[in-house]
Amino acid sequence: MKLLRHGPKGQEKPGLIDAAGTIRDLAAHVDDIAGAALLPENLARLAAIDPASLPAVPEGTRLGPCVGRIGKFICIGLNYADHAAETGAAIPAEPIVFNKWISAICGPDDDVEIPRGSVKTDWEVELGVVIGKGGRYIDEADALSHVAGYCVVNDVSEREWQIERGGTWDKGKGCDTFGPTGPWLVTPDEAGDVDNLQMWLDVDGRRFQTGNTSTMIFKVPFLISYLSRFLSLQPGDVISTGTPPGVGMGQKPQVYLKGGEVMRLGIQGLGEQRQHVVRA
Ligand code: ZN
Repeated sequence: MKLLRHGPKGQEKPGLIDAAGTIRDLAAHVDDIAGAALLPENLARLAAIDPASLPAVPEGTRLGPCVGRIGKFICIGLNYADHAAETGAAIPAEPIVFNKWISAICGPDDDVEIPRGSVKTDWEVELGVVIGKGGRYIDEADALSHVAGYCVVNDVSEREWQIERGGTWDKGKGCDTFGPTGPWLVTPDEAGDVDNLQMWLDVDGRRFQTGNTSTMIFKVPFLISYLSRFLSLQPGDVISTGTPPGVGMGQKPQVYLKGGEVMRLGIQGLGEQRQHVVRA
């Protein structure tokens, strides 16, 4: 199942995309793709609906973030061996954990704003993991039973604010529009082998990032188990699991967004995003 949220910002309604690529409205069956709707029994109930019985949503309708009311947006830094190498950073002994403020979350094709005063706004295509069943002290062996699905995330980052301004990374990670999420949440049965998914990102048609989840240092089950030692995971939390090589900071010379560009990014089987870059 590919679940999504469609409609104007702040008024998104639940939906799915059927096998033919038509968006279908789920508002008669669930209030939102959020919270308890992501529990296994509720996803099973949605999966039993015949998509052909659902009203079609007009083409061109905006998509919102594929999960509503996200409680926590947790990110993992330097989680690809080949990306750590391009940044000159050592491979971390334990996952680097930081947060994206939830006000950063936006739809997959919404404009990305370069914040005022930014000179180093950068991109990061990432595999997002959406929590279904919550928990604390989750065993690694049981971790995947806590996953509602997977999605594409662009972990947009301001490098100067992240790295050169002191404190944690959060200042450069949580700006408004720095978290495009979607286009859809793909349930695990349709997501394929999440340890072997191609991922890519283009800016103005130039391919910058090419990677594969196979070079992730800390894999999804470990990350879920690890995080659950420090906090409880809840339905609708999102974990963004790090980026492969090809970020702007890793170019020689470095390349940053100036405004006016178009970013396109995607992950095999999980869909694509497309954002215009504008100045705030
Ligand atoms: Zn990242």
